[in-house]
Amino acid sequence: MRAERFPRTEPGPVETGSAVHTPARGVLIDGTAIATRVRAEVAEEVTRLKERGITVGLAVVLVGDDAASAVYVRSKEAASRELGMAGETIRLPGTVREREVLAVIDRLNNDTAVHGILVQMPLPRQIDADVVIRHVRPEKDVDGFHPENVGKLLIGATDGFAPCTPAGIQYMLQASGVNTRGADVVIVGRSNIVGKPMAALLIQHGPFADATVTVCHSRTRDLAAHTSRADILIVAAGRPRVITADMVKPGVVVIDVGMNRIPDTTKKNGHRLVGDVDFDNVRNLASLITPVPGGVGKMTIAMLMRNTVRAAARAAG
Ligand code: NAP
Repeated sequence: MRAERFPRTEPGPVETGSAVHTPARGVLIDGTAIATRVRAEVAEEVTRLKERGITVGLAVVLVGDDAASAVYVRSKEAASRELGMAGETIRLPGTVREREVLAVIDRLNNDTAVHGILVQMPLPRQIDADVVIRHVRPEKDVDGFHPENVGKLLIGATDGFAPCTPAGIQYMLQASGVNTRGADVVIVGRSNIVGKPMAALLIQHGPFADATVTVCHSRTRDLAAHTSRADILIVAAGRPRVITADMVKPGVVVIDVGMNRIPDTTKKNGHRLVGDVDFDNVRNLASLITPVPGGVGKMTIAMLMRNTVRAAARAAG
């Protein structure tokens, strides 16, 4: 296995004796501030690579005109630009055929100036997302969705790419001084992009992991029985208020991944963004909690940038 060359600059593990530590209540985990730190580290690495004559390149493939996807892609473009990377976005019509998308990926796979490739999901119906994901070369798969990277994550190998949202959550926990060792972590949601890789990261041996993990989903018999014994509760269900105050124990650390648009007549655009957790009431019980917006979302893009610079550093040898 090739050695990991990217410097590990994460904060060290916080040993507090008990699984989760702080007597304070309702302290916000500031995803924006933590993401700013990650971006600063990435910018330094981009500069170091530039000094070696390497410009980090991220290519984004956007198919169709889904409004939310267009917003995400614009954020990714802006982040890569701000960090001094070369960004390329390939916009394809929603009617494009699968083989045309694969041809674009072939071109990007073979382009040495492109270190990271990201295909924005969801894809239109005529395109099989699994086929597209498997077509991206694993060493350019900065989303961490290719089966090779998923397998590496599961066995604890560090030369792959972890999906950005769970990797960002693990980083936030570290940066907030939360000790995961021996902690009861309950994850609500078992998707391939959040719930499953989150579990895979936290059950590994070693710092920032070593947790006892339970994964819940829509078929879980008694959700509250599980959530109410969590030291750390990570919620990625995509359902507003799926977690209410009666479902958590005092002192819990809550990570709310959900991003749900709900109608709000007081807003100019008629809606607002909420998470999956009944924030106002759960906050009073939690020791630490992520807000929505301003929590996990900011970290996802920062970790994408980090994966991309890692891809470039590995390609450089
Ligand atoms: P997903 O693929 O729709 O998966 C949702 C999961 O939640 C499924 O496993 C589902 O169970 C489970 N679930 C749904 N309702 C439930 C309930 N009432 N009780 C228990 N489990 C329930 O969603 P996802 O892609 O993981 O995303 C989840 C949320 O996170 C969404 O709001 C999404 O927008 C947000 N998200 C945010 C970021 C970010 O950067 N902030 C990144 C990714 C996702 P089944 O498997 O049984 O159906």
